[in-house]
Amino acid sequence: MNHLAFGLGALAGLWCAALGFGAWYFLRWRQLGPGSDAARQAVFEQWPTTALILDPATLQIVAANPAALRNTGYSHEEVRELPFTQLFSAEGAADERVLLARLQDATARAPIEMRQRCKDGALRSVEATAHRLELEGRPVLAVTVHDVTVRRVVENQMLERHQRLDHLAHHDQLTGLPNRLYLAAHLPDALTDAKEKGTLLAVLFLDLDRFKHVNDSRGHETGDKLLKTVAQRVRSTMRSQDMVVRMGGDEFVVVMKDVKNTDKVNEAAERINQALSAPMVVDGRTLVTTVSIGVALYPRDGLDMGELLRHSDTAMYQAKDRGRNNFQLFSPAMDRRLKERIAVEASLRTALQTRQLEVHYQPIVDIESHRVVALEALTRWRHPSQGFVRPERFVRIAEEAGLIVPIGEFVLQRAIEDMVRWRQSGATLVPVALNVSAVQLQRSNLADSIARITKEHGLEPTMLQVELTESAVFERREQRGREAAQDAVAKLRELGVHIAIDDFGTGYSSLSYLKRWRVDTLKIDRSFVRDLVTDMSDLAIVSAIIAMARHLHIEVVAEGIEGWPQLEKLRHLGCSFAQGYLFARPAAADDCARYLNGDPLDLTQRLPVLDMLEATGTQDARPLRVIK
Ligand code: C2E
Ligand code: MG
Ligand code: MG
Repeated sequence: MNHLAFGLGALAGLWCAALGFGAWYFLRWRQLGPGSDAARQAVFEQWPTTALILDPATLQIVAANPAALRNTGYSHEEVRELPFTQLFSAEGAADERVLLARLQDATARAPIEMRQRCKDGALRSVEATAHRLELEGRPVLAVTVHDVTVRRVVENQMLERHQRLDHLAHHDQLTGLPNRLYLAAHLPDALTDAKEKGTLLAVLFLDLDRFKHVNDSRGHETGDKLLKTVAQRVRSTMRSQDMVVRMGGDEFVVVMKDVKNTDKVNEAAERINQALSAPMVVDGRTLVTTVSIGVALYPRDGLDMGELLRHSDTAMYQAKDRGRNNFQLFSPAMDRRLKERIAVEASLRTALQTRQLEVHYQPIVDIESHRVVALEALTRWRHPSQGFVRPERFVRIAEEAGLIVPIGEFVLQRAIEDMVRWRQSGATLVPVALNVSAVQLQRSNLADSIARITKEHGLEPTMLQVELTESAVFERREQRGREAAQDAVAKLRELGVHIAIDDFGTGYSSLSYLKRWRVDTLKIDRSFVRDLVTDMSDLAIVSAIIAMARHLHIEVVAEGIEGWPQLEKLRHLGCSFAQGYLFARPAAADDCARYLNGDPLDLTQRLPVLDMLEATGTQDARPLRVIK
């Protein structure tokens, strides 16, 4: 019972206490209600970030909350003495009026960024918003300030990282030059600029000559160092407003802005060529490199980046074709040639697959006896719409596209098959001469192929001869290329394959090679034979070649004999063999069996038609009238 009374008493006590607190709270709330001065005061006092009241006319600080004092390190008295601009500064708003205008504009949505200078000299990044208010009938500016220093540090770090990544993505790591992406990002602007100003813009496409050889022979590290030096030299020859970009590998692009005329481009290309031609010392070794440059001009040669790069690239290939170490301005004719070349290359690939290639043969004749001593195999392309296409239109393209290797293999295979058929028909076989390009000599294992195929068909390798042009073999500048060719020739000689130098006299090879390479035959180029009878210098050259060959025990074949006077002259000079339309035009294998009977050719009936046939050029695929 006592317990119950105590419990009820305690409950009543608690109830009274709760009522008392509620009453006190109610009264206090009334006193400090949201609209009361005290509440407003409390808000200002307890606001966690800097809050200031300014005089909008002078920007003088009228009041500062405790947070402002804490954050700046000044006392209330000090703050009130300080000019606002000493405490805060904003980028580009040194003038008070500008700052005031900005502050008045700064709303919570778009705060103004400022620097806060604390009493201890520390600088903080802050954002301020301001509102015009009225206090006791006077206009004031209430400014709240947030410290964003930490956020700014993080933002700056992110920005730096982004810029670093951006730099990495747009620059080449090896040379430090801008890269292809950079060019793609900046060339359009440069073109717009040129368009607006009405100036020329030049795109120079640079490709180092024989860089692959440096990489292969000296190693990639040396190659890299060479590229770095090249990059520095090219950069240093250009103006600061010009772009020098590494496109990849040994390709660079220079963009020249505000070009007055093409002379300026020529001068720049000349400067680059000169800068690069000075020897470079890399890893203690002296390297010399040259560069081929193609130039396309905006707006003349192209209006956008793609077109300008394509055309400068085309012009660069032209520079390579012209012997490298030079520069070429793009011309529409170049583009046409390139397109034709691409078209020929594509249809040549089809030709190889669809058996459009054939092999014709032209006799090589003993000048005294008029007997056929050999047949030269010449490729013919029976084009579905263009008829017979002569090798001069496609051999070079095939060499550049690497197609000459399969073409060479095809000619070898076909020549062997034709010889087997001639033998089966009872003909007296003579050796067949194959034209072999330098690329083919280097890349394919010709000696092994010849050894294998001749063996398969029961023929001697001595029944094959190989014709090499001097420019393709002896004049190779790279020692490795020359050595590879020399090895291949040595292997062929071991097999017993005769080696002839084709088109002799058109190249610049040193005569000492003839001795060192131990060639069997020289074929004097048609260009010396054509005017032999009328041109005294041709006569001098031909007689010198014949005399020299006699001393070196090398046989001589005169190419392109079309008339009796030439033949007579050659006989007189002591030339042993000849080849030309006077004897026979190249013909299909079936027509050639008739040359292989050991009898001399009868030339008497052929004379009247020779010149006419020559003029038509491509008609040597017509069946031959056989002369006996
Ligand atoms: P080449 O080896 O000097 O062949 C002789 C070229 O002169 C042949 O031209 C032949 O048709 C032409 N010819 C022969 N006699 C006369 C003549 O009396 N007057 C005139 N005007 N021309 C004559 P073709 O067949 O057009 O071949 C051109 C060149 O193409 C060849 O010159 C040879 O270097 C190359 N070639 C031909 N077939 C092949 C091949 O299978 N492989 C390679 N790599 N090159 C080949
Ligand atoms: Mg030949
Ligand atoms: Mg020739």
